[in-house]
Amino acid sequence: MADIYLLLGGNLGNRPAFLQQARESLAIEVGAITSSSRLYETAAWGKTDQPAFLNQVLRLRTELQPEQVLLAIHRIEQELGRERVEHWGARVIDIDILFYEDLVLQTQRLTIPHPQLHKRRFTLMPLVELAPELVHPVLQQTVKSLLENCEDALEVHEFMEQPE
Ligand code: AMP
Repeated sequence: MADIYLLLGGNLGNRPAFLQQARESLAIEVGAITSSSRLYETAAWGKTDQPAFLNQVLRLRTELQPEQVLLAIHRIEQELGRERVEHWGARVIDIDILFYEDLVLQTQRLTIPHPQLHKRRFTLMPLVELAPELVHPVLQQTVKSLLENCEDALEVHEFMEQPE
């Protein structure tokens, strides 16, 4: 059994509903969700002429190997109708593997820890909620200290769901 951290993001359609569908599929296909952050909203990263993203970090317990987790998240992204229109482009759901225990892995298809996680406030803010003292196995800093030192200027705020 391994503890893993995943980042969910999406900026199209009913964003909270897509995140919820992704959580349901992940719980079935990857493993039990043992913790989940609040939802955060961020202006689109790397491209500003598109809707704002919602992000959430989850901790799961899985029996799958890293490559199998990647296959499962690709399946879920496809099921939920992701269209790979353009890099940094709009999407209903994007799922990244942030950490897999304290594994350090670099293959053609998979880099763990996720290579951008320490550069992005929208990843660190939900992650610090779940695991402030978790030590990044390459950078050897806690998540809390990565957030304190993060230079990402994009504003990230907690998302308040509007009642219908
Ligand atoms: P993107 O279009 O930005 O979502 O990139 C998706 C691709 O990044 C996937 O097809 C993976 O092969 C690759 N990738 C490399 N490392 C990771 C990771 N830690 N989590 C998710 N995808 C990864």
